[in-house]
Amino acid sequence: MKIRKLDIENYETVVHATDEETGLNAFIGVHDTTLGPALGGLRIWPYEHEEDALTDVLRLSKGMSYKSAIAQTGLGGGKSVIIGDPKVVRNPETLRAMGRFIDSLDGKYITAEDVNTRVVDLEFVRKETRWVTGLPIAKGGSGNPSPYTGFGVYLGIRTCLEEAFGSDDPKGRHIAVQGVGNVAQAVIARLLEAGARVTACDINLERIATVKEKHPEVEFVEPDAIYDVECDVFSPHALGAVVNDKTIDRLRCQVIAGAANNQLAEVRHGDVLREKGILYAPDFVINAGGIINVSVEFVEGGYNEEVALAKIANIQNALKSTFAMAKAEETSTNRAAIFVAKKIIADNKA
Ligand code: NAD
Repeated sequence: MKIRKLDIENYETVVHATDEETGLNAFIGVHDTTLGPALGGLRIWPYEHEEDALTDVLRLSKGMSYKSAIAQTGLGGGKSVIIGDPKVVRNPETLRAMGRFIDSLDGKYITAEDVNTRVVDLEFVRKETRWVTGLPIAKGGSGNPSPYTGFGVYLGIRTCLEEAFGSDDPKGRHIAVQGVGNVAQAVIARLLEAGARVTACDINLERIATVKEKHPEVEFVEPDAIYDVECDVFSPHALGAVVNDKTIDRLRCQVIAGAANNQLAEVRHGDVLREKGILYAPDFVINAGGIINVSVEFVEGGYNEEVALAKIANIQNALKSTFAMAKAEETSTNRAAIFVAKKIIADNKA
C-alpha cells in the first residue's frame, strides 16, 4: 500500500492511500485533535474525480470537529472516504486494507459507520485495527447510531417549538418530513406518539410502504412537493443543500429542524432564513445524537446507554444557547453555532 501525506492548511493530517492488491483508493482527513482523537465515519462513494473525494473528506472532517466540540464528546473531527462503487468495494479485502490504512495513524483517527458502510463492513475493518467504533452491542459496541440521532432530533424539535411558539408540546403541530430512512423513522414514531401530525415523502417506495404499515396516519406527498407543505416544522432527513435559492421561497414553515447533514446550500441561506423569521436548528448541533452515543463507547471506556441518553438530552441546552447567542449577536443560528464551535476548539488550544 502506498500512503501519501498531503499538506493542507488548517488540517492536522490528510493522507491518501492506494493499494494495487485490493484496489483501495481512499482518503483520511484529520481536521483537529485538540479536544481528542478525531472520530468520524467511513463513507464509500463513487466519486468521479479524486479531488471530489478530497473536497468531501475536508468538508466532512471539519464538520465533525464542530459537531463534537458543541456536543462535548471529548473528541476531535475526522472523516474517511473510499472511492468506488459500494457494490464493488464493499468486499472483505478492500475493507481490511482500509483497516490497515486507518491503523497507520495510530489512533489519531477513529472510524465509524457512514453513507454506504454498515456494521458488517466495520467488522472487517476491525480485523486490522482497533480504532473502530459503533460495533454491535453484543460485541461491546454501541450498535446502530440512528435511533440515538433520532432521539436527539426529536428533543431538538421540541426545543425549537418552545422557541418559536412558546410551548415545546408537539401535540397538534404539523411536521413535514423529507426522507423516511433510519433516523426519520425514529423521529416520526416519537412525534406521532406525542400527538403531532406528520406529512412525509421519500423516493424509495419500500421505505414509504414500511412507514405506511407502521403508521397509517402519516400522509405522503411527492418528493418535490414537500417544500410546499404548509407546516410548523420542515424536517430534512435525506439530502444536503435542501435549503437553497430554488427552495427557500417555497418553504411555508416556522422551523427547520432535522438530521440531514449540510442542510444549507451556503452559509448565506442561514441569513435569509433569519430575515424570513424561520428558526433554523443548525444541523451539526441537532443531529449529534449518533456521535454522542458512539463517543460514550470510546471515551467512557465501555458503552453505557443511560450515560449516552443523558448526554444526548444536552442537545436541548446546546440549541437553546445557540438561539440565545444568535439573538444577542443579531446573526443567524448557523453562524452562531460555528462561532461557538471554533471558540471551544481555540480556547482548548491555548
Ligand atoms: P437513510 O439512508 O436511512 O435515509 C435517507 C432516506 O432519504 C432514504 O429513505 C432515501 O430514500 C431518502 N431520500 C433520498 N433522496 C431523497 C429525496 N430527494 N427526497 C426524499 N427522500 C429522499 O439515512 P439516515 O441514516 O436515516 O440519515 C438521514 C440523514 O441524516 C442523512 O443526511 C445523514 O447524513 C444524516 N445523519 C444521520 C445520522 C445517523 O445516525 N444515521 C447522524 C447524523 C446525520
